[in-house]
Amino acid sequence: MDEFELIRRYFAPLSGAHEDVVLGIGDDCALLAPPAGHELAVTSDTLIAGRHFPEESLPFDIGWKSLAVNLSDLAAMGARARWFTLALALPEADERWLAGFADGLKALADEAEVSLVGGDTTRGPLTITITALGVVPAGCALRRSGARVGDRVCVSGTLGDAALALERWRAGDRDRSDDALDLRARLDRPTPRLALGEALRGLAHAAIDLSDGLAADLSHLLRASGVGAHIYGARLPSSAAFDRLAPAAERTRLQLAGGDDYELCLCIPAARLSEVRRLAQQIGVALTDIGEIQAGSGLSVLGAQCEPLAFTELGYRHFQ
Ligand code: ADP
Ligand code: MG
Repeated sequence: MDEFELIRRYFAPLSGAHEDVVLGIGDDCALLAPPAGHELAVTSDTLIAGRHFPEESLPFDIGWKSLAVNLSDLAAMGARARWFTLALALPEADERWLAGFADGLKALADEAEVSLVGGDTTRGPLTITITALGVVPAGCALRRSGARVGDRVCVSGTLGDAALALERWRAGDRDRSDDALDLRARLDRPTPRLALGEALRGLAHAAIDLSDGLAADLSHLLRASGVGAHIYGARLPSSAAFDRLAPAAERTRLQLAGGDDYELCLCIPAARLSEVRRLAQQIGVALTDIGEIQAGSGLSVLGAQCEPLAFTELGYRHFQ
């Protein structure tokens, strides 16, 4: 199977049939038609086997997650996800692997209504780079820099599941109980919060998605906004599976410094909080108020008696 056959068989079916794709896979470039009065939101993420996912991950999950991490960035900007490209380096054209990978990509692409519009295919160590594009009404994107003193700090969903799944897996734990599988699903098939991001455009002052851990990512937002924050360790939302499986002494660390949550962290003016809660409820995503933006700089995490907690692990960093 040559490169063109491979693209035709596995990736062309992901091109969808959306009006805003003037020309999709097959020419030198795709031609896209963003709606008038909108800005393009563009983001790329690379996933490398052994670094961003275990080598033996299911190909379906690798496909899903490669797209999910990119769509999560679009969600954090309040953009509507529309298109993506796929640059794929493969050690060999393993048809079973390709079929599973394409199925995982397609499952999320269909759900999010995004079209695969082009890419590149080469031979090399398994590396997946996706560039995702979205549209947002001009001037309305949610940035990291808009937080203001008095805003509530909120997070979607639950925190720590993926980090706990990864630590358990690294420690050699191959538990297949329902709880363990729930955690594992959160690591392998994160849910980008696209509907929430879009709904909070014009309501949230600032947003960021949580890929490297709440403490690290919220700190980026605080720096960009020139403010500080305090959050309450006991308010961090957790899943039932996490509550049952996380060792008590590790909970806060996993929730603050564990990565791969792909939830949104949002700064919301206090006066709009009940409106935002209603919207989140309609969308079916939990939203938890975990603290407050304050003047100054830096993040402080408060314990049950409002004592400051020390935390040293500020999330995952490359090149450290
Ligand atoms: P070029 O020679 O112009 O770089 P290619 O031969 O690499 O083009 O690709 C042919 C067409 O297939 C292009 O439209 C390209 O965008 C698309 N394509 C290549 N690889 C992929 C892929 N992995 N997924 C989707 N489309 C792809
Ligand atoms: Mg060309």
